[in-house]
Amino acid sequence: MAIVKMGERVWDAARAHLGAHPERFGFFLADTALASDGPIFIAQDFVPIADTDVHHGAGGYEIDLDVLLRVVNRGVREGRGLVEAHSHGGALPRFSRTVDRPGLAEFVPYVLDSLPRQPYAATVWGADAVYGEWFLAGGDTGVLRSILITGPQLLQVVSRDDDHEPIPTRFDRQLPWFSDDGQRALGRLRVGVVGNGGTGSHAITQCTYLGMRDFVTVEFDPADDTNLNRLVTAAAADEGTPKGVLARRTIKAIAPDARVELIARPLQSGEALDALKSVDLIIGCVDNDGARLILNELALAYGIPYFDVASGIEPAGGGRLESIGGRVAVVLPDGPCLHCMGEIDTAEARFYNATPDQQAVARARGYAPVKAPAVVSLNGLISSALVNELAIWVSGLRPLSVFTELELIDPVRKPGQWLTPRSGVVAVPDCIECTYRGLRDGASLERYVGVRS
Ligand SMILES: [Zn+2]
Ligand SMILES: [Zn+2]
Repeated sequence: MAIVKMGERVWDAARAHLGAHPERFGFFLADTALASDGPIFIAQDFVPIADTDVHHGAGGYEIDLDVLLRVVNRGVREGRGLVEAHSHGGALPRFSRTVDRPGLAEFVPYVLDSLPRQPYAATVWGADAVYGEWFLAGGDTGVLRSILITGPQLLQVVSRDDDHEPIPTRFDRQLPWFSDDGQRALGRLRVGVVGNGGTGSHAITQCTYLGMRDFVTVEFDPADDTNLNRLVTAAAADEGTPKGVLARRTIKAIAPDARVELIARPLQSGEALDALKSVDLIIGCVDNDGARLILNELALAYGIPYFDVASGIEPAGGGRLESIGGRVAVVLPDGPCLHCMGEIDTAEARFYNATPDQQAVARARGYAPVKAPAVVSLNGLISSALVNELAIWVSGLRPLSVFTELELIDPVRKPGQWLTPRSGVVAVPDCIECTYRGLRDGASLERYVGVRS
């Protein structure tokens, strides 16, 4: 299984050329990476093939050889892989047996040879959906699981055999918000939920009710007695059971057909980092900035949209409280990162991403990480705000708000609960974390593996 993704500019260019025109051709130039379940293609540019460079030959349509060479050479020069695209129009686009399959059998080995170490993918475009397959030099091949556009609306355009199945009636009451297309997209997004505790248990439950059906969950800790005041996936008898198991049980109870890949390992493990590389989006429900730092770098490196939630209660001294609130922050492939937003405490991140020995040294020097107080209603509200923002993005109702603050007791403003978008959140020039953008495996996230046992 594999993913092809792109931003709005590349999507618009491809759409303009291929959209309403059957039998047109083009190529994406893509940054690529390999996850254990298949390649990742992050399209950076679209090269349309002019109609005058395509001829109808004996075996169907053929592209001029010198035009093909030019595209392949650009891939070599830029160190990028190729994703071919041609359009059939209509519904349920698939490769034709008589023309496309023989064409692929000839062309795929040629490209894999010409662009060594690069995976290749081929796509066929219908009126509203795109089907594709990927190929590796060793002979591995498969169907593209996801074709994702991270523009003003999150579009999942992958075509599957059930494209035209009716939406189950259980979603009737939410279709006025999502429409059939949005509902179908929700069901096809693979979402990585990191942290299945106080906020994650809410987010997972709501995402499942909304219709999401493909989860990668990362959670290492068992539910202990002090979690049972807020873990909505747990009952009293569940003390000691891993939170990830409780999350999977909840998902399966609501939606037995859902796919759940439970990674019962720390985020700082090869298994977790590999499984998250190829998800469509990440929901971060973690309780420390060490995990946030890693998710921020992962999201930037592999161009993964990342929704992060935080809640907290700030004491003001003397038994008084200064703030009860939280925030939802969204890191998009071309937007500000969590560090740009001032949402990563570097000292805390360093502590949580240190080895036990290093942590002992930090403690001896007086560094004391505090466990933030946590309340179910606060977690529920801020997690709901995250899921709402995600649902708004999928349904395209309005532009995404990349930062939303929640405050329950702010004494400066009028008494009341405030859920407020923050404006003017932009990428900070020279942000050290933003240098991970687009690096893919060059981000070397494996340096975090094993730091937390
Ligand atoms: Zn075709
Ligand atoms: Zn940044």
